[in-house]
Amino acid sequence: MKSIQVKNTYDLQLSGLPDTACDTVDETDFYGVSPSRIKELKAKLLVKEGQAVKVGSCLFFDKKNEKNVFLSPVSGTVEKIEYGDRRALQNIVIKSDKQFQKETLFDKQTLASIDKLEDKDVADLIQKGGLWSVFTAYPFQMTPNSDLLPPAIYVSIDSDEPHLPQSQIFCEGEKDNFLAGLKALKKMTSTVHVGVADKTKLKETKILEHVTHRLKGHYPANNHGVFLYYNKKDASENSSWGVSAQDVIRIGKLLTEGTYPNEKVIVVAGALVKKPRHLKVVEGYPVKALEKELTKKAGLRVVAGGVLTGQRSSIDSFISYNEYAVHFLQEGKEQEMFTFFRPGFDKPTFGRTYLSALVKKEEWEMNTCLNGGHRACIACGECPKVCPVESHPQFFMKDLEAGDIEKPIEQGFLDCVSCGICTYVCPSKIELDSIFYDARQKIAKEAGV
Ligand code: SF4
Repeated sequence: MKSIQVKNTYDLQLSGLPDTACDTVDETDFYGVSPSRIKELKAKLLVKEGQAVKVGSCLFFDKKNEKNVFLSPVSGTVEKIEYGDRRALQNIVIKSDKQFQKETLFDKQTLASIDKLEDKDVADLIQKGGLWSVFTAYPFQMTPNSDLLPPAIYVSIDSDEPHLPQSQIFCEGEKDNFLAGLKALKKMTSTVHVGVADKTKLKETKILEHVTHRLKGHYPANNHGVFLYYNKKDASENSSWGVSAQDVIRIGKLLTEGTYPNEKVIVVAGALVKKPRHLKVVEGYPVKALEKELTKKAGLRVVAGGVLTGQRSSIDSFISYNEYAVHFLQEGKEQEMFTFFRPGFDKPTFGRTYLSALVKKEEWEMNTCLNGGHRACIACGECPKVCPVESHPQFFMKDLEAGDIEKPIEQGFLDCVSCGICTYVCPSKIELDSIFYDARQKIAKEAGV
């Protein structure tokens, strides 16, 4: 097994590490999915209000990639279809019949039968099973085109972003599904790299014996894009794909059962949660049903996914596709009185902006405060110190703002993995990751991706 020492990683030390207990949740009457949080999706709706659905019924597909279908996680009746700005499909709410009747999507597979399939057949089953969007195709970090197969697939077993599900919890009892999923990936490409955190708590030897790399470092050492950056030998690997271990398990389950794997392990965490922990939920579980987990309900920011890479959600939303955490954070006050005169012992700081740099504190509580209004880049030089792909985010930003896209590309802009850590440490709190996202989209469009 090879070791990769990832440079410039950062131990965020955020409070609220989830308990290793994995509880189940109470059933609810309504479940839902939120197409609006799937980036770059142009949804074509296939159901209408009042229509009966089963687990695995197709709700909508991506008009740009018609084989990328999204399936119902519950059985029941479509209760409500909600639209947002410009009639963008926001939420599909389903009244559950509490039966969880499953549609058979295809014949059950075994390890031996998967082995006999052609690469395109495996891709076809994953597409039919509604799991195509679990893959991230680099360098544009999009759902892959359904007709393409990658030069390599990178699997990350662990995640070091606070606070996402821990591998020893979601892998428990799932080794056969993981092996079936891994077998499927190996049919789709000749090279599958499996990375595990140096300090992993996973003990399942049947999974660990497939690990090819040990990834050393704090956040985001276990990001599959970072793994690709350190492991690739030449430019031909730039279009590799990444996938998380929990999604490998779900692919295995889909293939061996022939039905949509609607259960997943998530984390409920954040400063406002009484007991941060793992929960086994059915996809589409309402965030509202987790309200009882909170210490207070006012001034709340709900984040779907990790605290650095997740998206803003709301208490009326759902745990939707490809979301494995829900964070409840304190909405920060944008303007504090006399901030300039405050020593900031209570504020985390990467540079030495606050006197908290002198305090040895075990953990910091995350909120959404920007500690002031919009500020210009002061060229402090902190962001390159945390960039895992050894880039200079502030130079990228300045070139992109000046309308120069060529120079950042020449300097490795497409290696950026959207980890968001440069935005986090920026003392001016410039949203570097959203500037980079927009630029990446523009480049992808010009490249016809
Ligand atoms: S540029 Fe920023 S978002 Fe991109 S990899 Fe570097 S630190 Fe992460």
